[in-house]
Amino acid sequence: KKTAIIIGAGIGGIASALRLAAKGYDVSVLEKNSEAGGKMAQFSQEGYRFDMGPSLFTLPHLVEELFALFGKRMEDYLGVVELPMTCNYFFPDGKKIKAWSDREKFLDEVQNSGVTRQVVEEYLEKQSFLYTHTADFFLFNSIHKPSTFVGDAGKKSLKALHKLDVFTSMHQRNQKTFGESHLVRLFDRYATYNGSDPYRAPATLNMIAHLEHNTGAWFPKNGMYGILNALKKLAEEESVRFLFNTEVTGLVTSGREVTGVRTGDCIYPASVVVNNTDITLFYRDIMPNRQKLRKLMKRERSSSALIFYWGMKMKSELDVHNILFSNDYEAEFRGLFKTKLFADDLTVYIFISKKVVSNDAPDGCENWFVMVNAPENVGQDWEEETTRARELIISKINSMLNLDVEKKIEFEQIITPEDIEERTGSVHGSLYGHSSNSPMAAFLRHPNFSRKYKNLYFTGGSVHPGGGIPLCLASAKIVDGMIDD
Ligand code: FAD
Repeated sequence: KKTAIIIGAGIGGIASALRLAAKGYDVSVLEKNSEAGGKMAQFSQEGYRFDMGPSLFTLPHLVEELFALFGKRMEDYLGVVELPMTCNYFFPDGKKIKAWSDREKFLDEVQNSGVTRQVVEEYLEKQSFLYTHTADFFLFNSIHKPSTFVGDAGKKSLKALHKLDVFTSMHQRNQKTFGESHLVRLFDRYATYNGSDPYRAPATLNMIAHLEHNTGAWFPKNGMYGILNALKKLAEEESVRFLFNTEVTGLVTSGREVTGVRTGDCIYPASVVVNNTDITLFYRDIMPNRQKLRKLMKRERSSSALIFYWGMKMKSELDVHNILFSNDYEAEFRGLFKTKLFADDLTVYIFISKKVVSNDAPDGCENWFVMVNAPENVGQDWEEETTRARELIISKINSMLNLDVEKKIEFEQIITPEDIEERTGSVHGSLYGHSSNSPMAAFLRHPNFSRKYKNLYFTGGSVHPGGGIPLCLASAKIVDGMIDD
């Protein structure tokens, strides 16, 4: 039997493990931490459970596909619900917008936001067009293989190239469409779904809104980590082996082939190796290559996050996903990508899984995941930055939600970009590898295969097609298509 080694048990690694197991490989996943998940982690303390990383879940069919590989059904492992509201928005001038998943209800909600119903409807249709004309080419194929360009997906995207809005920024397009309306801010925010800057990222990325507004926002009945648990359980049933506390320190090669991976003194032989660690870490620590490392380090990285996990002794009027916008969004992104320090006012994201998962907090309490976008870790004084951000966040919540929030916090844990880097190996703590702030970013991402070694592949959020759960799953699918049975 052919042997596959996966380096890293992030969601991209587990999806790759499943796909190779389905091809008949004998698969082992080597993970440096004591548990699976990488950025997608959870913890429980003092009666509260928190998802530590991702909280937004779209395109559940990509998870379903992994069960179907083995003739199994996702619903037997993972229950999901469709959320009636994608996000509950609060603006600094007191305006509130509930972004209902139902198109008509959302249009009703925004009709007094200074634009006509038709403008919003046309905008959402445009995002649907962008997605359907780019997804096959950019997300589910390798754009580093010439065959993709001449295939059907490539032809479809090239035909629509003039409509893809590559040379306008997300913000410019949104402002042109919505003028002074609050909807500019609401749709600009989608840039943060891959850690980018709406004032520079190409307007093509406005299509991210299509996923939530046109295809639906979902939530697992037992929390985001439920996705990971379900996939891991499936993998174990299909004889995938997980080796935890096992850090890969190098590769063993012979000519143009990788013959195994090294963990300290041990060698694990392999006929195929799939790397799921951050690509920059890979060329720094696992297969050192100064030239590639220098090139990767030169490119702008995506943003990171500062997160406060609060056990709250209260029941709020909030929803699962809530956003409290800052006054000056542009200043925030200057802070994230230029000065690399927090701005003086911050957009605050509050995620409460207890709204769906009743066991996630004791009765009468809520588990608040309070996050602000943070710059990548370049050695800032995180203690000082955290103290400053915490004050800003608390005063913002107090004034916008009319609360005395500090009095309600009975449990607190904090993670900084430095902690994210330390725990997941994501270089500089970036959540999504490199940023997508330029029209060329999609093409500059590392391919899903190695040009040097014919049996070495790459999956996960730092390589093509990018970060976030759906794209990590897409990367595993692309790798699958490149490996023979
Ligand atoms: P990773 O999660 O990066 O895992 C890589 C694994 O490799 C880790 O377990 C690490 O320990 C291991 N590793 C590293 N070095 C070695 C080594 N030498 N040997 C062995 N193992 C090693 N995405 C969304 O879709 N929606 C969201 O709402 C969202 N919000 C987020 C919020 C936060 C706070 C964070 C942190 C991330 C968020 N993301 C979100 C991004 C999403 O979590 C990631 O894109 C995705 O989980 C990355 O998966 P991955 O496959 O790249 O692997």
